[in-house]
Amino acid sequence: MWTESSRDTERLMALDDFAFELELERRFGHKLGEISLDGPKKAFPLGLTLARETVKNRLALVGDAAHGVHPISGQGLNLGFKDAAALAETVVEADRLGLDIGLLSVLERYQMWRRFDTVRMGVTTDVLNRLFSNDNPLLRIMRDVGLGMVDRMPGLKNVFIAQAAGNRPGNPRLLRGEPI
Ligand SMILES: Cc1cc2nc3c(=O)[nH]c(=O)nc-3n(C[C@H](O)[C@H](O)[C@H](O)COP(=O)(O)OP(=O)(O)OC[C@H]3O[C@@H](n4cnc5c(N)ncnc54)[C@H](O)[C@@H]3O)c2cc1C
Repeated sequence: MWTESSRDTERLMALDDFAFELELERRFGHKLGEISLDGPKKAFPLGLTLARETVKNRLALVGDAAHGVHPISGQGLNLGFKDAAALAETVVEADRLGLDIGLLSVLERYQMWRRFDTVRMGVTTDVLNRLFSNDNPLLRIMRDVGLGMVDRMPGLKNVFIAQAAGNRPGNPRLLRGEPI
């Protein structure tokens, strides 16, 4: 993933392919050998988008239709999996109780279940993005010191890894590998 400020993106997109490849190699390094474009280059804006409501009567939004988070921490697809698993569990339980699975009152349970996790992840990725795309020297030092500390503390590092992997209490059963 290559993210840039909007101003720099315009300049980079205006480069010819050769100059673009050179710029990419300069940023990425040569760890994977020579880099060449495999198709036309594309750029699109990144930002945080959260739907105010994710359910209506007989309608539920899942995945990026419900939330668009910055790809800095690679969590978008995970959030979508959790949505799908939570929705499946919600409607199966409602069906077992003999309820109409498309009722707003049933779907609102799914919305409430997913709301906190989605907003938390959206805000976290947004803050991380602002932190890592900021060239303020003080922020850079704090960032580097913080990352260095986490790297030297295996316990804390494992907590972050578990969070990123989505291992949290309250996860839908399908996410935990259990049948509904
Ligand atoms: C650069 C980048 C890197 C990322 N890296 C990661 C990562 O490392 N880990 C991670 O978990 N997530 C990552 N993500 C996020 C992840 O790709 C998305 O969260 C995920 O693909 C969303 O899945 P989705 O099915 O909700 O939506 P999409 O993948 O967008 O699927 C929606 C589909 O609907 C189709 N569609 C749209 N409109 C219509 C219509 N009117 N009729 C019919 N079909 C339609 C589209 O063509 C598309 O195929 C990244 C995203 C980006 C942009």
